Amino acid sequence: MFDLLKKLTQTTGVSGNEEEIRNVIKEEIKGKVDQITVDTLGNLIAVKKGNGKKIMVAAHMDEIGVMATFIDDNGFVRFSSIGGVNQYNSIGQKVRFNNGTIGALHYEQKLDDLKNLKLSKMYIDIGVDSKEEALKLVGIGDVACFVGDCVKQGNIIISKALDDRSGCAVVIDAINNMPKTENEIYYVFTVQEELGLRGAKTAAYQIKPDLAIAVDVTLTGDTPNSHLMEVKCGKGPAIKIKDRSIICHPKVKKLLENSAKKINIPYQYEVLEAGGSDPGAIHISAGGVPSGAISIPCRYVHSPVETACLTDIENAVKLLIESLCSFSG
Ligand SMILES: [Zn+2]
Repeated sequence: MFDLLKKLTQTTGVSGNEEEIRNVIKEEIKGKVDQITVDTLGNLIAVKKGNGKKIMVAAHMDEIGVMATFIDDNGFVRFSSIGGVNQYNSIGQKVRFNNGTIGALHYEQKLDDLKNLKLSKMYIDIGVDSKEEALKLVGIGDVACFVGDCVKQGNIIISKALDDRSGCAVVIDAINNMPKTENEIYYVFTVQEELGLRGAKTAAYQIKPDLAIAVDVTLTGDTPNSHLMEVKCGKGPAIKIKDRSIICHPKVKKLLENSAKKINIPYQYEVLEAGGSDPGAIHISAGGVPSGAISIPCRYVHSPVETACLTDIENAVKLLIESLCSFSG
């Protein structure tokens, strides 16, 4: 699992530019499903045919990043955020453009108080001294992801883009280890989740599933002085109850609870007060779809040091497999 996480997190795939990560995922699941397609928006849809219920599994393959907006005469690149980029998490980080160009992200020195820091006061230094030189490396509209290597220490994984490549890894591992089931399963690696659940919406319309389960990360309440929240790293995958985009369907919550009990893994409940996720778009698509999610507890979400527990990720795979096999309507 660690090798897969490393491969997926270290591949670039900023929202709207998911080609590279899509190709990596396609390679991982080739031959394991009956059909693989890419839809108009770029969602990767892998189908395991069956005569039973139609289930949609969603994990978003995009990640947050930045987009070049303006280059000054000295070659410094201004940028706008793609998804929820936090200015404080960005200080002193490296970003990587799709062509491999690395930039140092920093802020204007004249800032009197860090509290006033905005992304518009920050810039990317790609080590050139003119606009002309800069434009050879970075074009207006080019996107870059944050750089954050993937390390394993004991049971924890630290990396950029565990949101949501850890979810993608769970779905890939489930595909590779699925026992025979009658259910027809649509594994969807969605695009542009970080920009407002865009890919999941069109995929759900097209598939019209009987049920949907997303796999994504969630915040935790287990770090110093953190927002009060029950979810903790290492205490098992969380069954989503709500976030700002959805109240999960009781049918899905029950299915996930019963499945976790049956395979005897630890689990917890997620009530997320900030943020939305793919099931938020899926459940109001195609006449309504009972939807829910398996959430991987993750600290420092949307930073280059996202931190999650390997055992939670592995248990999420088992929970997903059991749920997909046992759903009967
Ligand atoms: Zn996510």
